[in-house]
Amino acid sequence: MPATKRALRPKHVPLRTCVACRTTEAKRGLVRVVRTPEGRVELDLTGKRNGRGAYVHESRACWDAALKRDKLGHALKVPLQAQDMDSLRAHAAALPAAPQDGQQKEHDGIDDHQR
Ligand SMILES: [Zn+2]
Repeated sequence: MPATKRALRPKHVPLRTCVACRTTEAKRGLVRVVRTPEGRVELDLTGKRNGRGAYVHESRACWDAALKRDKLGHALKVPLQAQDMDSLRAHAAALPAAPQDGQQKEHDGIDDHQR
């Protein structure tokens, strides 16, 4: 008999790690950035393009961190070209400053702390 019982897994959700904050979560809420065969770094809004990919939260804070500290370049193992950096910055600038989706449900749990 097996020594351990397998925990029930309702379903498999593929997890991705944001290169900026290193938080792991389902692909939803993250955007893929792909390194093209030409060494360019571009947004991959379909998530299906070929090439090495990295993920960043769709939040300005994570994009700021990913670009300013060149975490994207490290994750993709390629230096970001100035024009790619510009287009990624433009994407980041269009995002809301704070996440607008998810993350807002925490109030539901607060009452549980009553004794
Ligand atoms: Zn993040």
